[in-house]
Amino acid sequence: MKRTALDKWICEIERLPELTREALEALQLARLNALLAREKARGGFYAGLPESVGSLAELARLPFTTAEQLAQNAPGLLLSSQAEVERIISDATSGTTGPGKRVFYTRRDLEHTVGFFAAGISEFTGPGDAVLIAMPFSGPDGLGELICRAVESLGARGLRAGVGRSLGELDALLDAERPACYIGMSVPLLGLLRWRALNGRPLYIERALVSGDACPEGVCAETERLLGTRLFPHYGSREMCLGGAVTCAAHEGMHLRENHILAEIVDENGRVLPEGERGELVITTLDMEAMPLIRYRTGDLTRFLPPCACGGAARRIGRVSRAGDDMERLDSELFAVPGLIDYRAALRGGTLEIYATGTADRAELAARASFLAERVELREAPPAPGDRPAYMGKRRLLSGAGPAGL
Ligand SMILES: [Zn+2]
Repeated sequence: MKRTALDKWICEIERLPELTREALEALQLARLNALLAREKARGGFYAGLPESVGSLAELARLPFTTAEQLAQNAPGLLLSSQAEVERIISDATSGTTGPGKRVFYTRRDLEHTVGFFAAGISEFTGPGDAVLIAMPFSGPDGLGELICRAVESLGARGLRAGVGRSLGELDALLDAERPACYIGMSVPLLGLLRWRALNGRPLYIERALVSGDACPEGVCAETERLLGTRLFPHYGSREMCLGGAVTCAAHEGMHLRENHILAEIVDENGRVLPEGERGELVITTLDMEAMPLIRYRTGDLTRFLPPCACGGAARRIGRVSRAGDDMERLDSELFAVPGLIDYRAALRGGTLEIYATGTADRAELAARASFLAERVELREAPPAPGDRPAYMGKRRLLSGAGPAGL
């Protein structure tokens, strides 16, 4: 089996002759200590931490950084000067409860992410391939453009589909360009494949990287059945400069970008868990210029997997889910029903309202949704070329007043 391309990229960028656990951990410790020294010298947010640690195990003695602290202290966490910052990502969606999280990157931080993306994408894309990129295109250093640069660095062609296109618009793009590869969120991909199949049109897409939102098990299983190939899930977040962990040829978990991310898994009391036990992922970002974070609690649940069959040295994490995310389970349940293309859901009082597009069996949809509410009200309409995604961003269960209909 081919070894993960991530190892090769880490060797290249870190000028290591070969990648071993010892070499990776020595690099992580040196970078962690460089970060602590830099923080102490500038008297910033982490200035109260020790100037160095003797081993990676001592990281567990340092305090956590929370999402709330990130929201309240973004300028204090910034290590570079404002002039060096190439991109700021603001979290407008959390603005209802206080200041939104802001994350800063320098040019070098972004270039590292492009290199990491290219390594992950090279697992299923080669020169001459057309790649449908169904991620947000929000300016020259937005996620979509970074992915596109990675795709083009491999000699492949990126198709800037973005998010929010209608089924008919995607049909036209697929028929014109016949992309063999897809990079985007998992639910829109399944919806697109089902829509194409429903109309007897060729799928063209053969291989796909899914990311950007939860990748519910039921959605992934159905997508793999339609594609006839295994998916390449990716995990990333803004706090880790968008790229975090990628799938190798073994298709069992995701290898972490360990030269830039020092990961821990902790229980609800913050105690570090051993390999195999599921808990919250905590990250320390290494060698990030703009805004390194120390022991940041991601709110994402996963576990470390044992060494990979591909022989890669970078550690793997298993399936990632968001703590308390009912939408992920609902997606997994509902998309297991054939014919469902998309839906929007709202929980009001004890009633779950579902507005679906597709040709799925309604009784089965309602039965599968019943774990979430005593009453399920379900409306379904057949899909049409003008239909756009039910959610443009993160899929979430709606609540409170207001229409949820498509
Ligand atoms: Zn592997």
